[in-house]
Amino acid sequence: MAFGWIDEQARLRRRDGLVRTLRPRAADTALLDLASNDYLGLARHPEVVEGAARAARTWGGGATGSRLVTGSTELHAELEEELAEFCGFEAALVFSSGYAANLAAVTALAPHGSLIVSDAGNHASLIDGCRLARGSTQVAAHADPDAVGKALSGHDGPAIAVSDTVFSVDGDAAPLAALAAACREYGAGLVVDDAHGLGVLGRDGRGAPHAAGLAGADDVVATVTLSKSLGSQGGAVLGPARVIGHLVNAARTFIFDTGLAPAAAGAALAALRLLRREPERAARAGAVARELHSRLTALGLEAVRPDAAVVSVRAPSPEQAVQWAADCRAAGLSVGCFRPPSVPDGISRLRLTARADLSGAEIDRAVQVIGETRP
Ligand code: PMP
Repeated sequence: MAFGWIDEQARLRRRDGLVRTLRPRAADTALLDLASNDYLGLARHPEVVEGAARAARTWGGGATGSRLVTGSTELHAELEEELAEFCGFEAALVFSSGYAANLAAVTALAPHGSLIVSDAGNHASLIDGCRLARGSTQVAAHADPDAVGKALSGHDGPAIAVSDTVFSVDGDAAPLAALAAACREYGAGLVVDDAHGLGVLGRDGRGAPHAAGLAGADDVVATVTLSKSLGSQGGAVLGPARVIGHLVNAARTFIFDTGLAPAAAGAALAALRLLRREPERAARAGAVARELHSRLTALGLEAVRPDAAVVSVRAPSPEQAVQWAADCRAAGLSVGCFRPPSVPDGISRLRLTARADLSGAEIDRAVQVIGETRP
């Protein structure tokens, strides 16, 4: 029978309690949100919503074609210019998602015969970029610049090291300056995914590469998503103009994908301008994360010290993690739940995301619910 084999996979998933389900969110939900990636609380900000609406009215519901045909509007150009300028890079190129941006950066910068050194904790989209690239991949130990240097030292030819700036599972930061130094020693490029850093790290939220003094370097490329701190949808690659020009000509997820929807570009641009006007939002997201961490560890819970806005709390087992998240939900608190196979180390966690717009009372309530529902 066609697809018969998937039934066995489904059976194993049920047996292991690993079935994923969708739970559509109601517009008027009363849940306190510590699960979304809306770090700066901008997704529903009136200016961001109006930015989307205005763009849709001006440019229509979709980009109408790929970027190289009809899908590049003046709005896309404006967003690229302001994003590059804000993050401190020479140029930027926007994509329909951060996922597509990561596939583009890795595949286009790792030609046949090249080496990719990829951190063991990297996001799935970087891993998929490595799988699609013509170059070969070596996985380096997590956050280990010496391991990256060692892998690069054995290779002759083009090479890149690839790393998240903030790892999405535990919220820990990569040692970017040391990684860049290792790359420079061997003439390799550094590609970093700043999905969780933009809007939270660096001066006024300019991102982790900016904070590490790497923005604008001719051997550093950063990717970002527009779907977390900027409250929109889409992604971008930032880097030297010659790299961005190369992507326009060589990155398949740029060339063969419909351009970013104008509404998403308009929302992201409005959010970026808001962040420039209200830069305190960036610091506040980090401060809320640190407060959540210290109050949860004071309750005896095991949590990873957050480097950005993600707070990861250990759960004893996948089943208890799922139950814990469900109990939080029943008490009015929405939290993320990470468990195998989404986590590489088999450790299940609650994943909390700090938001700049959480009030003191909301933080109190979140801590209380998590403490009271602990397994
Ligand atoms: N990189 C990281 C580290 C992420 O967490 C995500 C989103 N989960 C992505 C890339 C993909 O971005 P997008 O959702 O915009 O496709």
